[in-house]
Formats: sequence, C-alpha cells, structure tokens
Amino acid sequence: MLRRMWNEVLLYDTESDLSDFIKDQHVCVYRKETCNARTSITYKCSEYKKYPLCQFQLKGKESLDGYQLYSSEAHNHRTRAQTSRLPSPVRHNIVLVTDTGLTLRKIQKAVTVFNPQLSNNITKIRTHRQKNRCSIKSIEDLQA
Ligand SMILES: [Zn+2]
Repeated sequence: MLRRMWNEVLLYDTESDLSDFIKDQHVCVYRKETCNARTSITYKCSEYKKYPLCQFQLKGKESLDGYQLYSSEAHNHRTRAQTSRLPSPVRHNIVLVTDTGLTLRKIQKAVTVFNPQLSNNITKIRTHRQKNRCSIKSIEDLQA
C-alpha cells in the first residue's frame, strides 16, 4: 500500500477552534493517540461505510503553538457500497401498507408497479413485510 501523504492545512490556537472546523468536514474520530503528552487525533470520512473508496482523512496534532491540522486525499463519493437491502423509500412504503389488510400478493404488485426494477426482489419484500408486521397506519399513507 502507498504511504498516505499529509498536507498541512492550518494551525489552530486551541482545540475548540480545531473542532469547530472539523465539525463541517463530514468526518468522525478514527484514532486518538497521545505521544509525549501531546494528543493527535485522526478523523476519517463519516460515511466510510456507504463510500468505502473514500480515503479522506484529517489529522489534528497538538504542538507547542497550538493544533496543526493536516489533510490527506479528498472525499470520494462516486462509488456507493453495494447493498442487498431494498431502497429506503420502498422499505418505508412496505412498512406503511403492512397490516392494512392487503394480501402479500397485492403489496408485491403495488411495490413492483412503482418500482419495476424490484420485480426480481419479491422475496425481500416478503421478509421485510414480516419484520414490520406491527407498525401501521392506513392505506392512504401509502397512496400519499
Ligand atoms: Zn467521504
């Protein structure tokens, strides 16, 4: 693996200045180390599960003058992780119709009419319906 390159970004006077900046960068704490009583925090993309190719990282290192911030790579959100779950609007709709008295066949039909790409995914619709059997309102919710 290639060694990660770090670029100096800015020097912050206090830790809270640094964390104000960090908040807007869509990162979460990845590693926190203390070396010679100085803290070094590495952050990685907060959506790393969704975008496994995103290599973006930030590092805040305590120094004599404050906190030096380094960055490495940039957010890369072009490739989303493959998932076998149904897309979330569809899952939401299934939850809505579950327990409205519709038969499974009718639910499957309604879902595949609105989402033709799911016609091969009937088993998942069934599983999802069973998991959510108790939480429902009305059929009007689905139509809306
Ligand atoms: Zn990212």
